[in-house]
Amino acid sequence: MVGPAIQAAAGAAPAGQTFTPGPILLMGPPGAGKGTQSKILMAQWLVPQISTGDLLRGMRKDPEKSASPLGQEMRAVMNDGHLIPNELVEAIVLDRLRQPDTKRGYILDGFPRTLPQAIWLDRELSAENETLPIIAVNIQVSYTKLLRRITGRRSCPTCGRIYNTYFCLPEYETVCDVDGTALVQRPDDTEEVFAERMRTYDAMTAPVVEHYQGMARFAEVNGDLPVGEITQAIMDAIVRLRS
Ligand SMILES: [Zn+2]
Repeated sequence: MVGPAIQAAAGAAPAGQTFTPGPILLMGPPGAGKGTQSKILMAQWLVPQISTGDLLRGMRKDPEKSASPLGQEMRAVMNDGHLIPNELVEAIVLDRLRQPDTKRGYILDGFPRTLPQAIWLDRELSAENETLPIIAVNIQVSYTKLLRRITGRRSCPTCGRIYNTYFCLPEYETVCDVDGTALVQRPDDTEEVFAERMRTYDAMTAPVVEHYQGMARFAEVNGDLPVGEITQAIMDAIVRLRS
């Protein structure tokens, strides 16, 4: 999937070391394809993807990171059964942003999630004089399409293959193509759960979108398009906003 998309995007915008993307924030609801797009942009521009999910997982599982002061602090909080406080998440993000591989830019995925986090990040970035201001790109996917991705999802308990009753039907409707096992649906893949998750997402991120929009550092791309076309739209928008 990554190969053809990179080829499709290659003619559209400067690639590799010739273009400095600076800090990029990819936004979009769960299931919009942020992870896929981040990986393509990473390969295209040779900058790291920084995902808060990965960072926090790393702090828990990587022995070296979990032994660091931030890792120890995080473990202590989690051992007490508490949620990781915002200040600690920010400290972990900042620590990652100061690594040498971020000099030409990076792709943020999952942070900032709230307006206070966006304001905090702007302040931190402007304190470091060489850093470009952050650009936010929102991947918009139609509600119906996202809903179908979730509510149509079925999986095979035997081999783990994923199907979708709207986009990727097995040959004999309710059983796995490979081993004939009856397909199952996850209990929380319902419209109610999805709608609630979307409401939370919208409420939290709408102010973040407005924040970057207000500073003319924002672009919106159509996430219903094929992967390669979405990549191209993202790259075009970033190149335009950086020129
Ligand atoms: Zn199977």
